[in-house]
Amino acid sequence: MLTGWWPCILAGLFGAVVGSFLNVVIYRLPERRSLVFPPSHCFSCGERLGFVDLIPVLSYLLLRGRCRFCGHRFSARYALVEAGSAALAGAAVYYYGLTPYALGVFGAGAALIVAIFIDLDHMIIPDQVPLILIGIGIAFDLYRLLTYGREKALPFAEKLGGEDYVAYLPVSVVGALVGGGLFLVIGWVFERVMSRPALGLGDVKLAAGIGALLGPGYQFLAFFLLAMVSGAAISVLLILLRIRRRDQYIPFGPMLALAAIGMLLWPDVLAPWVLHFYR
Ligand SMILES: [Zn+2]
Repeated sequence: MLTGWWPCILAGLFGAVVGSFLNVVIYRLPERRSLVFPPSHCFSCGERLGFVDLIPVLSYLLLRGRCRFCGHRFSARYALVEAGSAALAGAAVYYYGLTPYALGVFGAGAALIVAIFIDLDHMIIPDQVPLILIGIGIAFDLYRLLTYGREKALPFAEKLGGEDYVAYLPVSVVGALVGGGLFLVIGWVFERVMSRPALGLGDVKLAAGIGALLGPGYQFLAFFLLAMVSGAAISVLLILLRIRRRDQYIPFGPMLALAAIGMLLWPDVLAPWVLHFYR
């Protein structure tokens, strides 16, 4: 049996290997290139990278971020994505144990990491990300249904002809509609008021995916407030530090993704902390 820290450490190693693949996805998905062919190679000399070059984080540190063949410098971001994915997997197992739920949290977090970096690079969020999130949200619904029965679904009660009827709605589907709908309305209002686009359709779809994971209740409200406040704070900071100009578009997807990862890992800590400011 795996005890103590071992499950987290092994999950972290698994997460690092997945992180190495996430780098490939981040780099190739926006260019609509195959994710498996050709195998990884150096961008500078074209030399095919072997096993030693592809050990997550470690090979970056050992080779000091350089290509073994031509000495070309790789971005530290590759190691950052691998380390982030490792931390995510370790944390998911730490909080939820070796359960299907932990796997779902890791899968959703990995898709959100991909969204963060593709949005930073290309100002788009590929449709695959919200689709994966909605798929995992539906899987969470099935998991809850099998574990707790329909009582964990959303009840909608009606009185018809003196009789009580309760419809049990799936949390994922209602959450996706509420999340996507809310961002669609906010984007529309902002565009009318500021007379420039504020939220892209990619952000709306991402919010729908996150809604499918968190449901339409207080977890989503806490996520929403966290993303809005930290997004506004970071935008002001970037403008004050003159990293971005006022009229430059600052992608909002990364803030949505980070707030969602936080809510997936620490709902019991973050939700009450965020919501107590609004009581
Ligand atoms: Zn090279």
